[in-house]
Amino acid sequence: MDTTTRTQRLAEAKAWAGFRSAHFARQTGTLVVVVDADAQGLDPGDGATKWYTICDDHDQLVGHETLAMAKHHASDPLGWCEVCSGADRLY
Ligand SMILES: [Zn+2]
Repeated sequence: MDTTTRTQRLAEAKAWAGFRSAHFARQTGTLVVVVDADAQGLDPGDGATKWYTICDDHDQLVGHETLAMAKHHASDPLGWCEVCSGADRLY
């Protein structure tokens, strides 16, 4: 069991390259972080993906063209994190 507190995890997320926002999703309790794709080193080079929303608990992420879209997805990890949604399970 991870004994790191939520406060500590939020503080760590704020130190990530390209950090923009982080919170624990109400529905899933997982830490969801929004980052600048380029600054985080995740830029896929498609010229469109500028932001990523990351479910830190499950190492799942989804790319977006706008920060507004990234923040919209941050409130609903069930919609894109395959582990949160149950589409993929960690055994
Ligand atoms: Zn998740």
